Amino acid sequence: MTLLIDETHDPKRTSWVESANGHADFPIQNLPLGVFSTGGGAARGGITIGDSVLAFADLVDAGLLSGEAETAARAGAGATLNPLLALGAAPRRALRRRLSALLASDSAERAAVEPLLRNAADATMHLPTAIGDYTDFYVGIHHATNVGKVFRPDNPLLPNYKHVPIGYHGRASSIRPSGAEVRRPNGQTKAPDADAPVFGPSKRLDYELEMGVWISEGNALGQPIPIGAAADHIAGLSLLNDWSARDLQAWEYQPLGPFLAKNFLTTVSPWIVTAEALAPFRVAQPVRPEGDPRPLPYLWDEADQAEGAFAITLEVALSTAAMRERGLAPHRLSRGPATNMYWTAAQIVTHHASNGCNLNPGDLLGTGTISAPSDDGFGSLLEITRGGKAPISLESGETRTFLQDGDEIALSGRASREGYVSIGFGECRGIITPALA
Ligand code: MN
Repeated sequence: MTLLIDETHDPKRTSWVESANGHADFPIQNLPLGVFSTGGGAARGGITIGDSVLAFADLVDAGLLSGEAETAARAGAGATLNPLLALGAAPRRALRRRLSALLASDSAERAAVEPLLRNAADATMHLPTAIGDYTDFYVGIHHATNVGKVFRPDNPLLPNYKHVPIGYHGRASSIRPSGAEVRRPNGQTKAPDADAPVFGPSKRLDYELEMGVWISEGNALGQPIPIGAAADHIAGLSLLNDWSARDLQAWEYQPLGPFLAKNFLTTVSPWIVTAEALAPFRVAQPVRPEGDPRPLPYLWDEADQAEGAFAITLEVALSTAAMRERGLAPHRLSRGPATNMYWTAAQIVTHHASNGCNLNPGDLLGTGTISAPSDDGFGSLLEITRGGKAPISLESGETRTFLQDGDEIALSGRASREGYVSIGFGECRGIITPALA
């Protein structure tokens, strides 16, 4: 693995970009990759630090980069980061080290870099890559158990769950960056006691708390990715909200799985927090409970078990239109660790390619809903409200079972570990707007 701790992770390193020091998400130790436009200009690749963004093209034009770092920046200078991700980890890391040095408090080149900074608040964020393919997994074992209980109280997990990472091919065309409108979908539903289905707005609109895994180097069609090499194919992580219409889902999902209940929109946080930035936050994959099967050899790697999980805390907050009008703070729906994944990111990459399926640079994998074992860490309203049977009460006096028009869902994530500066993922939010008539 090429996941190394270096000077870019030094907790003592600060930046002359004052807003970065103590920034909840984007201190100098993070430097996530994204695509943005400013002043009505073209979409360009770059990074964010503190409250600023910095375009790769401007750094190249200013002659501030050379060697592998320049190669990486040129590849990432356009409207999508696919060419940069295709280069793999080494050039990405070289670019990170050079950017960190340029932005560090002791940089001799502050005067050359400072004029290139743009205010992040003035930037429009775009998707970081042209996503060719999107696959959503189901690795949150507590989520799978909670959902399974609704259908099979005595035997919630299907027999394949602990052997094979479950997933389905999602829709890439409807993935949007944070802030995109969440139009309530229309669809076909059938109430359990109804004789016939109806078509109309979903009444059980939900979110799913997930992480997105961005693919860097791909694999050729027919060539699997060995588990020991899988980490090298992961460029980084984002937050991902797999908006879900539960009433459409219940009616359509058999026998082929999720379809229109899921593909009307998926929201991602637009910054790719790189594998390099996440290196200090890698932790052991939780040991499987006694009696669980050991993964088949193609999914088993000691190094992946030792450091294939991430010390990331995930949160979901809800604010209704009434709460925002009254200035009430968002209501926290859940908080829990991202280690509640039965399979690691490397295992889902390897499994996806194990039949020879080719992954491409810039592809996106969703982990599946990540729920903690306890109520305060459930990653969807389906679980929190017991399928709509147990409404939650909000500070505004309102109640919710599923999402109403005007509701805003915001995901957040924070990687932290003793001895290192915490880093975050930025925004992943969306407001529900009424269905089209
Ligand atoms: Mn999902």
